[in-house]
Amino acid sequence: QFDKSKGQHILKNPLIVQSIVQKAGIKSTDIVLEIGPGTGNLTMKLLEVAKKVIAVELDPRMVLEVTRRVQGTPYQTHLQVIHGDVLKTELPYFDVCVANIPYQISSPLTFKLLSHRPVFRCAVIMYQREFAMRLVAKTGDPLFCRLSVNTQLLARVDHLLKVGKNNFRPPPKIDSSVVRIEPRNPLPAIDFKEWDGLIRLCFNRKNKTLGSIFRQKAVCALMEKNFKTHQALQGSLDNQADADLVMQLGDVTNDTSMDLDSGDFDTMDEDMDGSTIPSTFKDKGLAVLKEHDYEDKRSSKLTQEDFLKLLAVFNKAGFHFS
Ligand code: SAM
Repeated sequence: QFDKSKGQHILKNPLIVQSIVQKAGIKSTDIVLEIGPGTGNLTMKLLEVAKKVIAVELDPRMVLEVTRRVQGTPYQTHLQVIHGDVLKTELPYFDVCVANIPYQISSPLTFKLLSHRPVFRCAVIMYQREFAMRLVAKTGDPLFCRLSVNTQLLARVDHLLKVGKNNFRPPPKIDSSVVRIEPRNPLPAIDFKEWDGLIRLCFNRKNKTLGSIFRQKAVCALMEKNFKTHQALQGSLDNQADADLVMQLGDVTNDTSMDLDSGDFDTMDEDMDGSTIPSTFKDKGLAVLKEHDYEDKRSSKLTQEDFLKLLAVFNKAGFHFS
């Protein structure tokens, strides 16, 4: 009856359903977005407290089931069911999101919600336990990772409730947890793609020092490519830009022996993909890390503020991550 490929694990314990609804702090004027209503156990309780529930459901059998369940009740006109894949659906306005989601869409769904505008008040979501622990992990926790840093840049996240697997039918393989997500308002004024690009590099090997990460060939090559792209975007790579590039490199590497008329410059001018470039970029990147005391730091021990500052000093030196 239930389709595991669609993550159909029905929450059967009414006490947990009640607790989720209560912790969502729904007001009688609120529009609630529910993702994956299934047979409607949570939906019915949400309808008791909200002005309106908009539920997005992928499985047509479940759409029918939840629609039937409200038929002939006072809630019939308060429920709107959208049949579709939530990841491909343009979400409507909502105040609060409440969902026992299919776990396979945890990450894209979380970031879809966090990029939704206008910003909603909060989301109360059931996740697989480990995913939930990653979302809320803080600097120094063993599960602290790219997901923690990215989510916490955009939202405050709190672990609300542990839910054992036997509260579901059929039971999933692992336990779950309910998490509260409250988007930051206003959001930090940074380019999220850039931010994620940097965080991705930093957490590639989160227990290595940043110095060793930014010495890696692939990382240097990426930094070089982005550097050039951004230079090119600021005006075509004409002679002036080339000269600026060399000047900037000179600035940061503090390489006083670097002479614009020397062979170094000729090599760079003629062969932008030449083998001399990566080491120069490497030195420049490392100089930024050294100057701001990041070279010996490890991502697992850095705070949100540390990462924000790291992005700012890299950007200032002309380095970009998207
Ligand atoms: N809310 C119900 C409950 O708590 O008992 C059911 C939760 S069940 C874990 C997940 C539900 O999401 C299923 O009804 C499934 O069909 C639906 N679903 C799966 N993938 C989906 C998607 N991409 N978009 C919308 N709904 C989806």
